[in-house]
Amino acid sequence: MTAPHGASCYFCLEENADEGGKSLVRDCSCRGNNAGFAHLSCIIKYAEQKSKRATTKMDLPAFSRSWRECPNCKQPYQNQISLDLSSAFVSFAEANYNPGKCIIGSQLTNDKVNLMDALRERAISLLNHAVLHEPSGVEVECKMIIGKILSMVDQMKKDLDMNRWMLMPKHTYEYRFYVLVCGKYEADGYHYLGKILYRTGKDDEYKKYFQKARIIYNITGLNAQSQDIDNYIALTKREQDPNQSDGINLCEFTRKNYELVKESFGLTAAVVIHSGVEHAIELKKAYRRIEASRLLTNLAADSRRVLGPEHHITKKVDQQLQDCNERLVCVQGTLFQAMRYENDGAMCVVKGPIKVPRQIDGEREFHYTCDLIHPVRGCPVICHGKLGEVGELQEHGQFEVHFEDASQKPASAKPENLRIAFELPDQG
Ligand SMILES: [Zn+2]
Ligand SMILES: [Zn+2]
Repeated sequence: MTAPHGASCYFCLEENADEGGKSLVRDCSCRGNNAGFAHLSCIIKYAEQKSKRATTKMDLPAFSRSWRECPNCKQPYQNQISLDLSSAFVSFAEANYNPGKCIIGSQLTNDKVNLMDALRERAISLLNHAVLHEPSGVEVECKMIIGKILSMVDQMKKDLDMNRWMLMPKHTYEYRFYVLVCGKYEADGYHYLGKILYRTGKDDEYKKYFQKARIIYNITGLNAQSQDIDNYIALTKREQDPNQSDGINLCEFTRKNYELVKESFGLTAAVVIHSGVEHAIELKKAYRRIEASRLLTNLAADSRRVLGPEHHITKKVDQQLQDCNERLVCVQGTLFQAMRYENDGAMCVVKGPIKVPRQIDGEREFHYTCDLIHPVRGCPVICHGKLGEVGELQEHGQFEVHFEDASQKPASAKPENLRIAFELPDQG
């Protein structure tokens, strides 16, 4: 975002552009008129110092941290700043890279690991960019970067004859080095490559890479990452064929994923809003429209405030929310959208019939008595004074209703005893 008047650089305290003429930037979770703004050049200088210190202390996690997250709010940089910093990080690590032979415990080997670390950050930044911006055009670079990491790992494995280390006791330096290099760089490399190839979607090559990553994750005990791939594969299958999901509960998966990115990125980062929408879409598919609608209402407000009304993610949220707020009903076997009640609730006004794809222009409004209105599965309704959503149709034309308050047992009701909830009441 553009810095407001009076904002100054978090590092050099200067309000004006830096020597290269570049203005202040900010794209993390810092808020307010002055917090967290900085010159990109100052962030780079700071990160270089931190990385040098991390190298002397042999502190690998600290080597990449300042290139990835804001020292003020401790949240990852986003979008263009993330791309710019990951690129500068690679340049920095390359400048310190010496392509000599690997010897365990040597400075040279550490510099190699450092470069792999920088390349990995770059790959993640590009992958995030590819997920958030379509078309992104960064896939080619991402593949190339991952290719570099994988060939470095290969060379290192040969130089150090590493494959036998996997069988060593778990507390040994060799075993831990194996887990670091093969788990964090090799398996993650295959994992990200699979995701990028899946996005470019030409053939089934991505499966091969997922499989390779999974094998290494399983050997090195990185079960969470392996689970992430399993879920990803299930998700792809489900997208290609809705009936096949290998018994994985996708709502649960997208919920966990959403919780995870919320934890690591704060509430309002683009990637968080994006995974919130993905979760809402799964909720909707599972006929949990009330939950989806409440989530999307919050996401729409966040996205509008943080990304702006014209951002493609904001538009996606709006579209999903609008879709969620439609109340679809069946009248004598034909699909309509319920609009409102009239005549003190004796009649319901519907619009349709709905064709696929929908042609609003050709639709008209009709009035029906309430006994003819059958809300479709997932439609929010009021039943016995409580908010719920319609479940499966039961015998004798009764509808199952699941209440929002999960402590209430599902009920069974005739269509004339259900009221469509056009607006969701505030959560009690
Ligand atoms: Zn500065
Ligand atoms: Zn910040």
